[in-house]
Amino acid sequence: MSSEDAEPTKTICPYCGVGCGIAIDREAGGDDVQFRPWGDAPVNEGRICIKGGAATQVVNHEDRLTDPLIKEDGEFREASWEEALGRVVEELSRIREEHGPDAMGFYGSSKTMNEENYLLQKLARRYGTNNVDNCTRMCHASTVYALRTSLGTGAMTNSMADLAEETDVFWIQGANPGEQHPIANSQYFRQAVLEGATVIQVDPHANKTTRSFEIDETDRHMHLQLEPGTDIPLLNVVLKTVLERHEEEPEAGWIDEAFIEERTEGFDHLTETLADFDKEAAAEECGVPLEDIELAAEKYARADNAAIFTGMGMSQHTCGVDNVQNEINLALVTGNLGRPGTGVNPLRGQNNVQGTSDVGAMPNVLPGYQLVDDDEARESVEDVWGFEVPDEPGLTNVEISHEAGKSVHGLYVMGENPVMSEPDANRVAERLERLDFMVVQDIFMTETAEYADVILPATTWAERGGTVTNTDRRVQRMRGVGKIHENTRHDLEIVSEVATRLFGEDAGFDFEDPEAVFEELREVCPIYHGMTYDGLGEVGLHWPCYEEGDEGDPYLYADTFDTESSLGRIEGVRHQPPKETPDEEYPLILTTARLEEHYNTGTMSRRSPRLNDRHPENFVDVHPNDAERYGIEDGDYVRITSRRGEIEVKAQVTEDIKEGVIWTTPHFAAASGNVLTNDVLDERAKIPEYKAAAAEIEVA
Ligand code: SF4
Repeated sequence: MSSEDAEPTKTICPYCGVGCGIAIDREAGGDDVQFRPWGDAPVNEGRICIKGGAATQVVNHEDRLTDPLIKEDGEFREASWEEALGRVVEELSRIREEHGPDAMGFYGSSKTMNEENYLLQKLARRYGTNNVDNCTRMCHASTVYALRTSLGTGAMTNSMADLAEETDVFWIQGANPGEQHPIANSQYFRQAVLEGATVIQVDPHANKTTRSFEIDETDRHMHLQLEPGTDIPLLNVVLKTVLERHEEEPEAGWIDEAFIEERTEGFDHLTETLADFDKEAAAEECGVPLEDIELAAEKYARADNAAIFTGMGMSQHTCGVDNVQNEINLALVTGNLGRPGTGVNPLRGQNNVQGTSDVGAMPNVLPGYQLVDDDEARESVEDVWGFEVPDEPGLTNVEISHEAGKSVHGLYVMGENPVMSEPDANRVAERLERLDFMVVQDIFMTETAEYADVILPATTWAERGGTVTNTDRRVQRMRGVGKIHENTRHDLEIVSEVATRLFGEDAGFDFEDPEAVFEELREVCPIYHGMTYDGLGEVGLHWPCYEEGDEGDPYLYADTFDTESSLGRIEGVRHQPPKETPDEEYPLILTTARLEEHYNTGTMSRRSPRLNDRHPENFVDVHPNDAERYGIEDGDYVRITSRRGEIEVKAQVTEDIKEGVIWTTPHFAAASGNVLTNDVLDERAKIPEYKAAAAEIEVA
């Protein structure tokens, strides 16, 4: 029977957090896995972007790791699983004995599934440390912190479907769904726009989102092209405008007095913060005409339903928590929360970036965001697990790499690539070299795996099953077509085997299959409690889902917020400039973002010919006036330098970027933007300031 005749396997795209359903098949006995459309897939209804359509290209790629490797005298050699796992267990045991459990760090990954991350964080906690984190830290830790603190839950408040149907105004700040969430943009946002919705984009860079909404001849859409790092003053202009206009026209609905009175706290703090706020000066600092911000404020505040979408342009700052808090302030004072078509909605980057945090692969929370220092919550999890969990939050992933070779002696990396994903990338590589021991389980020889002592070859997304949670809290099942390479193992099997060898057969790590792991996850994770594999079916369920049979909540906070007071927290915030600002030596602001064709550190997308052919190398956007000042022609190779390093890339001279700002990407090993970025952290969320660094440029 040909593969076309066979029933394809329905699974989820391994790339962004939209969570599109795709089908795959594999000819019996062969190693060729092919993409097939899945016409009635719940999220995307058969539509697919270039990344999703090319996703199978990496599955049987010639670069796949096929056997365990051990480093000896600086060179890798093949080893048996017995020898490789023996070495891992020996080193983890030795590190704990000699330096204590906090001398190890564990990296989960949003490229892997809920069950795998659940088991990895359980392994870390059984080992005796909360030093476990995942790449959420790098993208939306500040968003999660602000949403959790002020509304109660660190996730998208609404769902893509209700937004598409009900939203009148989309306020998209620091996000570029046209590039990074193409199906959300083309299927949900664009559909709403065709039916009359307005888009207000706030971003230093004109991009695919800007262009995708130039879809009619009206002037209803706006792009506020602000200076990097001026999101707080821009939103303060919006907030002050809304408050002033309400004074002038109290009946016109500029703010929602009843909502503020009944459902929020802290409004006075906001009005006090804005009392002496100078809108003209702030607009000038943002580099956006005051009247444009005021018009955007009017469009948002006067809409029946307005929804905020927030991205890494907001979160990846040292003031990331306050950036998102100010979006929450705007939604709360205008009553745009708790009903369809509204909310504050982070667009998540990876296919399981929501789920990896949901299942507790973070240093401060257990599954279901239960705090490790909440005795009651921790003890309820300990009762199921049968061992004690440390009651102090552990180190975040950037803190782990900062401590490598100091208090941290060993690292367990599942599917992550910190040598490229973390800021100040050259320094990360130097620090990893100082570790006593590092084990990496992955599908390819990544830039991080090069520094490992043991590499364990894992299977790809297409070969195994489990669940993932998309950007709007929908938990969906992934299904696999089986192993392509006999001697690889599923991530779940590897973690289970390591833990069982470390702690014994009865330690609670020996599971028959992913479903058995999910059953335990449900038990300790209240927001997943009502979900079963059968119940998830082909459509999935939104969390929170407390009881079997619950439909799950497509939007949150209909009646009450999940805070201690049950109220939404308003808190005025003031401008905090980026930690590095331009000076004589580094006169430009460098900012970074991702491309539609590539995926984070490019481990998979650079090996996908269909994707890589479109963007085979890094580049930098330079404004024409800056290009003239530095003698740069379009297509010239230029050297970009920051206080941390330098890269050489091709220049693209364009008015997409503001004068004084340059823009590049982190995807390419030969010249990654993260060599230049700043590893200074937001104090509360510990997210690095990827989005603003001082830099210099010259023709190479
Ligand atoms: Fe995959 Fe995201 Fe594209 Fe959907 S939009 S096909 S999830 S990369």
